[in-house]
Amino acid sequence: MECEVVVVGGGIGGLTVAALLAQRGMNVCLLERQPDVGGCAANFDKFGYSFEQSYGLYSSWGPDEIHRRIFAELSVEPPEVHALDPSYVVRLPDQCQVAVGKSVEQFEQSLREVFPGCADAAVEFYRRLNLAGTTLRQLLQEDADLLSSSKASRTYKLLSKGRAGAKIMAAGSDPLFAHLNGTSFRFRRFVDAQLQTLAQGNSSEVPYLQAAIALSEVQQGMFAIRGGSAALAARLADSIKASGGSVRVNAPVLRLAYNSAGHAVGVDLVSGEKVTASRAIVSNLTVWDTYGKLVGLNRTPPEIRKTLQKLRGWGAYLMFLSMEDNAAAALAGDRLLTLTDWQADSEYDPENQQLFFNAAPSWDRRAPAGKRAVTVHAFTEPESWFTFHSDEEEVEARDQQMLEACWERLHKAMPELGSGVEVIDTMNPRGYYDSTRRKLGMVGALVPTGTQFWPGQASYLTSLPNLFNISDTSSAGGLAAISRAALALADKLAPRR
Ligand SMILES: Cc1cc2nc3c(=O)[nH]c(=O)nc-3n(C[C@H](O)[C@H](O)[C@H](O)COP(=O)(O)OP(=O)(O)OC[C@H]3O[C@@H](n4cnc5c(N)ncnc54)[C@H](O)[C@@H]3O)c2cc1C
Repeated sequence: MECEVVVVGGGIGGLTVAALLAQRGMNVCLLERQPDVGGCAANFDKFGYSFEQSYGLYSSWGPDEIHRRIFAELSVEPPEVHALDPSYVVRLPDQCQVAVGKSVEQFEQSLREVFPGCADAAVEFYRRLNLAGTTLRQLLQEDADLLSSSKASRTYKLLSKGRAGAKIMAAGSDPLFAHLNGTSFRFRRFVDAQLQTLAQGNSSEVPYLQAAIALSEVQQGMFAIRGGSAALAARLADSIKASGGSVRVNAPVLRLAYNSAGHAVGVDLVSGEKVTASRAIVSNLTVWDTYGKLVGLNRTPPEIRKTLQKLRGWGAYLMFLSMEDNAAAALAGDRLLTLTDWQADSEYDPENQQLFFNAAPSWDRRAPAGKRAVTVHAFTEPESWFTFHSDEEEVEARDQQMLEACWERLHKAMPELGSGVEVIDTMNPRGYYDSTRRKLGMVGALVPTGTQFWPGQASYLTSLPNLFNISDTSSAGGLAAISRAALALADKLAPRR
């Protein structure tokens, strides 16, 4: 088969770039190894429930924001979204709560009540952070490729935003903790738990400007999608087909196909078929798998091999629960981030203390009558799910152990649930590996390093001139960041007319 652009993987990144290119008239073929598209954004369906495999928090669905811009161009309607108010509630180990995403006044009032020892510093921290985050998000709206633009062009754009831009330049690649002066340990843990959820790292790991984008986003407006992110994936796949592109499922790709001169010319499928691509190959696989599986390690430059070895990701453990309506009525909100221990004498460890509780909204229950579908997320070190188990029974035992620990923690953090919830199923890094083939089942963005905010080159570039990578491991910041990178790449390959 021949096409102009072949896209390997039908996650949100692959689907978005394929939809845009097909709409702009390119001959596009998307290959997905599973029977359905969506990857990590797919739902988990069982017993009449449809569970999101996410926090159910989607940003950038406001007017003119990235998702609206993309769908304004496509020939299908966007999925139905609703603004969340609040985005979520953070519940601390002493059961104090802060609703994040209510009005600024209410939020600042909660900060003063919950963190009386550092009230002014906490409020001031958020005001500065919101200014930086809002300004950066405006700039990203104007230029989806801002993060990788040259230093000169970035400086020019930042200076156009006056004092806020100058402050962003001054913050450079500061880690967040450098901006937490004067705040209490309790407040820092409040920030750690949120950052870990939104950016895969704590306040020592996440650069200040990345934290500013993530924390200001949840403050100023997140959305829920009817049907979850799977509905977004389905619309994008419809759009590809509607504009003449091809979406082939059950089509696992083995590796890149090279010609006799050593240039990548397309991909070889596991079935033995070859798909050639005259313009570009887009990998929607993680950076590790893009090189390890598609390019081949023997063709990967040594400096990239070295970098890949240093990159880290987290694993996810999910509990899929059924919740009774009357248990839902007792909750502080549909989304709760809970922390069960302050971890006063240690580095922040998300694995054993924090959970994210995501109940399907009452207008989109995705469950049998009288019930709601709930997803509870815990962080887990991925290696342990692969290294110590010789057979399936051992993995099941590990899963049972994790389930019991998370279940106990959930009831400790949210005693109001009582007997109103029951476990339908679970998901662990092994399951993620089976469903997505991501290295060690690691999901979400890479763990940040604390210093790198401006990547210095477009995140979708690879060592090969006609191979591009669009995935959450090359663009941190949830689906919005992946979509932004997909738009930037589409603009490079087929500029809008
Ligand atoms: C627990 C959790 C909660 C999250 N919550 C949110 C949230 O609330 N809001 C938000 O915005 N983001 C959230 N995210 C992030 C977001 O869901 C993911 O980062 C995103 O879906 C990843 O998309 P991707 O494009 O990188 O590709 P992936 O989802 O990784 O998809 C890659 C695709 O490639 C396919 N594939 C792999 N190998 C091959 C092959 N050889 N041949 C063909 N196809 C192949 C896979 O089957 C898969 O379909 C969350 C992530 C996690 C893990």
